[in-house]
Amino acid sequence: MDNNLINMNNDIIDDAPKVLSGGTEEDYLFADIKKGSLLEDEAANQLNYFTCRNCKTTFVTKMSTNTCVFCNSNDVMKISGQTNNLYYIPFSKTVDDAINDYKKKIRFRFLLPSVFTSKESIKSIKKVYLPFLLRDCNTNGKVIFYAADQNKVNKQIETKKYEVCYDVNFDFKNLSVSRFSKIENNAVLSYEYNSLTLFDNNVFNDSCGIIDDLDENAVINNMNNQINNSVISMVRDGITHQLKKLKNNGVVLNNVVDKRVLLPVFLNVINYKNTDYIYIMNGQTGESNLMYKISPIKLVIVSIITILIIFFIVFLVASII
Ligand SMILES: [Zn+2]
Repeated sequence: MDNNLINMNNDIIDDAPKVLSGGTEEDYLFADIKKGSLLEDEAANQLNYFTCRNCKTTFVTKMSTNTCVFCNSNDVMKISGQTNNLYYIPFSKTVDDAINDYKKKIRFRFLLPSVFTSKESIKSIKKVYLPFLLRDCNTNGKVIFYAADQNKVNKQIETKKYEVCYDVNFDFKNLSVSRFSKIENNAVLSYEYNSLTLFDNNVFNDSCGIIDDLDENAVINNMNNQINNSVISMVRDGITHQLKKLKNNGVVLNNVVDKRVLLPVFLNVINYKNTDYIYIMNGQTGESNLMYKISPIKLVIVSIITILIIFFIVFLVASII
């Protein structure tokens, strides 16, 4: 058997796609925003920036607060700052919607530690905007795969090798990548981006906005890699041979339009045994997620107890009959 074929399905995609053309709409739109905000009442438009000494999160709001938007620590300090967001998606859901949803999530989870079900924890659900990068682009170019099929002929393995070339031409719209290190790309579920609205300081009247803490290049690399991986996996899925390994990725990105956006969520971060567990609800659609996994040991113990109880009941019923 050919040794080259053994690890064929473990491609390492190290060719980052090259950006050929495109840019951002931000420069000229930013000029408009700055001009617009000067005309408004500066005092009424005052944004307060805070940084948390505990978890290092920086956030902005028009409200007065002494609590960190992420970790709920009171060790926050007022600082000067600025936002760089261009668009936001307005909230459709209310804090009450989020509280009701959270209560539903914890209702039948008997195995959750009590810190999740406490009144303080329910009260600490916050209306928050998360910083994301949104991209539209086109990808095109040639992707070449090594491919092979193996058949047993007269007790001998016969290998047929191929080289498969694909001409890629995909359009991507509204791909999103997090600009905040504590929230993952797929954490906020999906949004309807047709309600994207030009940024305005008033979005922070009754909410907090988290300031991005990831380096811009790192965010863009992350976005490029996400696009690259999805192009390669789409091509790979289309190849019907048994074994396939990427040979060459000639895909380039065209017509790239990046937007810095704020996405609405209700957030509740619960610290338990030095780990942050995140409840997040999409502020537009109401989809939500509580990222807590019940420990396997607890699950095994509870399963054993449940089985014992069932056996006991069966035994009782059998002895009565
Ligand atoms: Zn904090």
